[in-house]
Amino acid sequence: MNKEEILNLLKQISYPGFSRDIVSFGMVNDILVKNDSVQITLKIKSANEDKKEAVVSEIKSVLTEKSPFDNISILFDKSSDSGKTTEQPQTAQGPSTLTGIKHIIAVSSGKGGVGKSTVAANLALSIRNMGLKVGLLDLDIYGPSLPMILGLDEQPELNKDRKLIPLDHLQMKVMSFGFISGNQSPTIWRGPLVARMTEQFFYDVVWGELDYLILDLPPGTGDIQLTLTQKLKMDGALIVTTPQDIALADVKKGADMFRKVKTPVLGVIENMSGLFLEGRLNEGSDLTIEGQQVTLRDDGSFTIRMDLFKNGGGKTESDRLGVPLLGQIPISQDIMETTDSGKPIVELHPNSHPSKLYKEIAENVIDQVDV
Ligand code: ADP
Repeated sequence: MNKEEILNLLKQISYPGFSRDIVSFGMVNDILVKNDSVQITLKIKSANEDKKEAVVSEIKSVLTEKSPFDNISILFDKSSDSGKTTEQPQTAQGPSTLTGIKHIIAVSSGKGGVGKSTVAANLALSIRNMGLKVGLLDLDIYGPSLPMILGLDEQPELNKDRKLIPLDHLQMKVMSFGFISGNQSPTIWRGPLVARMTEQFFYDVVWGELDYLILDLPPGTGDIQLTLTQKLKMDGALIVTTPQDIALADVKKGADMFRKVKTPVLGVIENMSGLFLEGRLNEGSDLTIEGQQVTLRDDGSFTIRMDLFKNGGGKTESDRLGVPLLGQIPISQDIMETTDSGKPIVELHPNSHPSKLYKEIAENVIDQVDV
């Protein structure tokens, strides 16, 4: 059995959590065949040891069953630790990577008001909670909400090279158009000016060393968004939507825009997805709620999930779009109140149910980017 035949067998093995196989991911670095022995060297950047082990055991079982080799050894190429992520498309068009920034993730939405900035801020905080260095850049020029969400109304200062120094807030670096334009929406700004300002925000901000820069993009898929996505080399994009909008053309347009600029869409986040009511049932009392899902626990406590938007597509829609559904965040008074008070929920109530959902999304993102 030659190398090529072995490679064909390995193509049957998909990387855990992905439909893509380990060969097309570029994870098979080398194959050495000698008599009845085969040695396979893998190059997997992920820090997730469980996934690596799963790949090793899958390779062993496939080769044991389908190849003639008696000795199968599998090694890891350690140099891959500092390598590029294989998930990143080689042809990403954005000409620039920003020095010192390892990964850039864009958070987008088809329209305004769906909770994109709330997701961006809570995601950034969840990544920070993992001990990583995070920057948050609000490029939502027509409705910058980050200053409100983070309770910031300071003006950034310039360093001696006349570069903007991002604000240091909650152990993150933060920059927003809102810091500069104040609360007045610069609706008179036209495309070219916006494009120039945006570029300044990429190149003239001294971010320093960052593991992740989270971009809060303006809603929609117009020229500005396209320019933005073309200028910078992004590792991946997230699309935030509400259940009633996921089926609309907006989300598909967003996914298509990122595909066009060869940025992988890491997934859709369905926000304001259902409403949870928590309560306790006292002895002898009745609880009947027509048409709603009720979870009643032994201690009398209950949770009711109400889907306010019946046409929500969730998983079915994301499957149709060919992107994973990364999470469903319910409507929550806590999210709204914390966001509107200038301290996102992940900061204020890190152990709450929504904070755990944001954490799961953050872990999923990092896992995909750090493959
Ligand atoms: P966008 O960036 O899409 O314009 P924002 O993040 O500014 O949207 O959110 C719009 C409003 O919705 C804010 O008042 C925010 O507090 C609220 N909000 C966002 N997500 C939720 C949620 N899951 N539950 C309740 N309110 C939310």
